[in-house]
Order: sequence, then structure tokens, then C-alpha cells
Amino acid sequence: MDEFQAHEIRDRIKINYKYTYGGQSKFFIEVMNNKKLLGTKCTNPKCGKAWMPPRINCSECYSPAEWVEMKQSGTIEVSTIVWYTTSAFIKSVPYSIGFIKLDGADTALLQGIFSENLVPSKIKKGRRVKAVFSKEREGKMTDFFFVPEDEYERWIEKPEYEGGE
Ligand SMILES: [Zn+2]
Repeated sequence: MDEFQAHEIRDRIKINYKYTYGGQSKFFIEVMNNKKLLGTKCTNPKCGKAWMPPRINCSECYSPAEWVEMKQSGTIEVSTIVWYTTSAFIKSVPYSIGFIKLDGADTALLQGIFSENLVPSKIKKGRRVKAVFSKEREGKMTDFFFVPEDEYERWIEKPEYEGGE
């Protein structure tokens, strides 16, 4: 009779908050307003490493880096197919994510890769992909994704998406 019994009530907590992207804000603003993918380039002539995602200071030599517009096509370095995800992406399952090295960049960007026919051969290392943008953008990573180059024209014809460059 003295045994402890916890009384539990199911409830919901809603939290409104905002956060800043700090020094990387320009990347998100340019995606939202101009459908541009900005990286940075190390200003040290002996280094010159091109960062994508952008780094405000070069992580290789610690020199300042400057903003540069990147190409919107690139090559898959590594990828996987996603079967478990958050509520925000559950309707897209299965989809792929991968590290994509944009042409001219020295580092790779982790981003979603969507395909009309998602099979491993479509997203394997070395495959060419191109960025597609949502028409309604919020300045978030979900404002764009990559598709296999041979599907690009069909993706940008869809009413909710458009091409960048
Ligand atoms: Zn550097």
C-alpha cells in the first residue's frame, strides 16, 4: 500500500524561439533571396582553400576567408538512403543525403539528394548532381536540395521548385 506510484499527465509544450546563423548568415540570405550558393575562399595566397559549406576563417591555415559564389553543380562524394527521419521529412522517405563537392570547392556539403527513381546507382560516388530550389524559401538548408543532373529539367518544371543558375 505504501508503494510509490507516479501520477503522469500527458501535455504539450510549445516553445517559440529564434537563433542566428552568425557569420554564416550571408549564405542563408543569398539562398533565400537570390538562389545563390555562396562558399568562402581563404585569402592566404599560399592556401586559397575553397570552403563549402562556408567557413568565415580558413580551418586549414586560420586566415580570413572571403565570400565567393559557387557553382550549383557538383559530384557526390558519399551518400546513403534515409528511411528514418524527423516529422519534417517523413513524407519524403525514402530519400537520400550525401556529401556533395560543388565544382570549384575543396570541401563537401551535406545535403539532401532527391530522385524520381531512388536506387543506389543513382546516388553513388562520382554521380553528377545539381541544386534545385523551393519557390517558397525561408533562409534554411531545406530551401534547396540536389537532384541527379539528368533529372534536373523535370524537377524545375514542378510547380513548387525552380532552378538557380
Ligand atoms: Zn587557408
